[in-house]
Amino acid sequence: MRIPIVGGNWKMNTNRASARSLAQAVTSACSSHTHNTQVVVFPPFPYLVEAGVALGGSNVMLGAQDAYFEPDGAFTGEVSLAMLKDCGVSFVLTGHSERRHVLGESDDLVNRKTRATLDAGLSCILCVGEKLEEREAGQTDTVNERQLRAGLRGVSADQMARIVIAYEPVWAIGTGKTATPADAQTAHARIRSVLADLYRPAVANATRIQYGGSVKGSNASELFGQPDVDGGLIGGASLKADEFAQIVAAAAAPRS
Ligand code: PEP
Repeated sequence: MRIPIVGGNWKMNTNRASARSLAQAVTSACSSHTHNTQVVVFPPFPYLVEAGVALGGSNVMLGAQDAYFEPDGAFTGEVSLAMLKDCGVSFVLTGHSERRHVLGESDDLVNRKTRATLDAGLSCILCVGEKLEEREAGQTDTVNERQLRAGLRGVSADQMARIVIAYEPVWAIGTGKTATPADAQTAHARIRSVLADLYRPAVANATRIQYGGSVKGSNASELFGQPDVDGGLIGGASLKADEFAQIVAAAAAPRS
């Protein structure tokens, strides 16, 4: 049984006060579901500590939207994994499409960040997903497979216990367009078969694969009801505690 996981990626939103109050609101709104669903929020760097304090002793975990792979030194503007651990972070996002396609991160950089996150003892959500033109050209599986194989290069089978894959079709992120549950299931099953080939079937079966891309309270149940969809990575809807909690409740509901 894979425990579903729901992440709230706040992106470059909130301020100090609203980050604190959103963290508090998420904690209380999600409290009845965190016994069978893992919940992680990803505030902006400057508010990590404040949000972490607001999460208090709850089961909602703290995540970082990015990290640099070097341990320290002359890397102006970057944030190390040791710094993030020091702030109470336990999850790091790598390969988010905004970092790949807006900020120009390569597969190789995503892999370095993924490996460094695991080597630091933290858990990692590695995001993969195709752009619209790639989907239209029939390249969805090829792109996902390339990003998976490159992103996981050098990651051991043991370390896979701390990896979550997020399938996030780029055309669905922040657009209001969502993959159909059937399309999401097809992509997730294919991702799982690549993991089985890279590792072994038991590792693939134990790895959680989240869906991300315009998940809302109204469509979460259908998406999370698919056999290979183990929760979601949520952007816009994670900024509203009540809607986020509705999404978490959908992940917590038993799959038929
Ligand atoms: C995301 O940022 O990972 C995301 C899925 O955003 P949204 O839910 O807004 O599409």
